[in-house]
Amino acid sequence: MTIQAKRFMELSDILGMRLRCNECSTEILVPFDREIRVKKFRTCPHCNAAWTTNGTSIENAIEEAMQTVRVLANLLQGGGFRAGFSLTLEIKPETCDDKD
Ligand SMILES: [Zn+2]
Repeated sequence: MTIQAKRFMELSDILGMRLRCNECSTEILVPFDREIRVKKFRTCPHCNAAWTTNGTSIENAIEEAMQTVRVLANLLQGGGFRAGFSLTLEIKPETCDDKD
């Protein structure tokens, strides 16, 4: 028998976004309760590897994703109306390395 547990996360559980350099593994944690300035992430602050190039749409997409999560989380936490539903994100199931 296979048992599969689904996992869900509320938007309010999201604390920030992590950017990890593919070259040196340096990580930057950007909290969601602060303003993001994506133009500062064009290069790795440690090894200076290019993270984005001018004109790429990933910069705007990062800003928009963070803004969208903020707006949705605020709306769902009493942002002027009462939602008749709850909104959660389904995430991958936790993997277990046990070979029992
Ligand atoms: Zn780096």
